[in-house]
Amino acid sequence: MNTHEHEHSTAHSPGQAVAALSASVPPSELALGFSDVSMRFPDGTEALSGVSLSLLRGEFVSIVGPSGCGKSTLLKIASGLYPHTSGEIRVDREHLGYTFQDATLLPWRKVRGNVELLMELRGYPAAERRRVALEQISLVGLDGFADHYPKRLSGGMRMRVSLARSLALNPSVFMFDEPFGALDEITRERLNDELLALYLRKGFTGLFITHSIPEAVYLSSRVVVMSRRPGRILETFEVPFGYPRGPELRYRADFAALCGEISVSLRRAIEE
Ligand code: ADP
Repeated sequence: MNTHEHEHSTAHSPGQAVAALSASVPPSELALGFSDVSMRFPDGTEALSGVSLSLLRGEFVSIVGPSGCGKSTLLKIASGLYPHTSGEIRVDREHLGYTFQDATLLPWRKVRGNVELLMELRGYPAAERRRVALEQISLVGLDGFADHYPKRLSGGMRMRVSLARSLALNPSVFMFDEPFGALDEITRERLNDELLALYLRKGFTGLFITHSIPEAVYLSSRVVVMSRRPGRILETFEVPFGYPRGPELRYRADFAALCGEISVSLRRAIEE
C-alpha cells in the first residue's frame, strides 16, 4: 500500500519541485522530502523560504539555526499541523512520530495511560495497547513506573514517556523538536545515548531540531544549518562517524573540529 502523500502547490511551479525531488533520490529511498517549500503565516510572517531537504531511509539529520528561523514550523508542516504555502512535501503521515520540547503528558493519566494515548486515538484494541505500552515503557528504561503519574517523574523520565508514546506506533520517520533542550547536561547526554540505541534498534529515519551543536553531531549522519527567518538551508555537514557511537566520541579531536566548523557556520547564519 502506498500511503505517501504527494502534496503539490499551485503557487510555485510544482512540476519543477517534483522533478527536483525525484531526480536526486529514487522514491523508494526517500523517507521525508521537502522541495522548495515556503511558508507564510496568515498574518504575513514569512517563516520559510525555499527549503529543500531530502532524508533517505534510515538517515538521522539534525537541524540547527537561529531562534525563530522556522525550524518548528518545518516539522509542523511536515506533520500536517500547519499548511505550507508552496513547494512539495513527501511524507508518510501514517507512520510519522513527533516529540516536542515539552513532554505534553496528560497529568491525570498514569505512565501507561499516556503511552497508550496515540494507540487509543488510532483505535487499537485494549489488550494490544497494554502489551505494546508495557514493551515501550521497558524499552525507554521505565520498567516499574507504568503506574506512576507524571508529576512523580523527573524531566528526563517524562521525556522518556513521551518517546515511548510515539514509539508505540512504530514510526518509520521520527521528528524531534528540541526534546532534550530543557534537561540538564548529564541527563541530556544519557538520553542521547538511549535515543541512539533506539534508533539503531528500530531503524527509523530521524529529523532532530536542537540548539546544541555537539548534540546534533553526536546523533546525526548529517547536520544542516538554517538561515535566519525566512528559514532556508544554508549549509550541510556530513558527519563521518559510524554507528554505534559511544560517549568517548564526544572527547575526540575530530568531533570537536566538526562542532567548531558548524559553529562558525551557525554564527554566520545568525549574523548575516
Ligand atoms: P524556531 O523553531 O526556528 O525557533 P518557529 O518555527 O517556531 O521558529 O517560528 C518561526 C517564525 O514564525 C518566528 O518568527 C515566529 O515568531 C513566527 N511564528 C510562529 N508561529 C506563528 C503564528 N502562528 N503566526 C505568525 N507567526 C508565527
